[in-house]
Amino acid sequence: MKIHINRAGCVGHARCAATAPEIFPLDDNGYIAVDEVAPSLDQEALARRGARACPERIITVDE
Ligand code: SF4
Repeated sequence: MKIHINRAGCVGHARCAATAPEIFPLDDNGYIAVDEVAPSLDQEALARRGARACPERIITVDE
């Protein structure tokens, strides 16, 4: 699984990080700090939940 994040569209809700802080780190201003994540197998369910939590729909899951 690969997670892609369109960082340019991030408005800093921090919902992704609230759901899965280890997968979606934020920068000092509260915006997503990564544009690609490869979660381990045991993190995949959490990664999907974090992606769905983003109101801007900028996190896409590539299964
Ligand atoms: S929930 Fe979406 S908009 Fe909010 S910080 Fe995370 S990636 Fe950015």
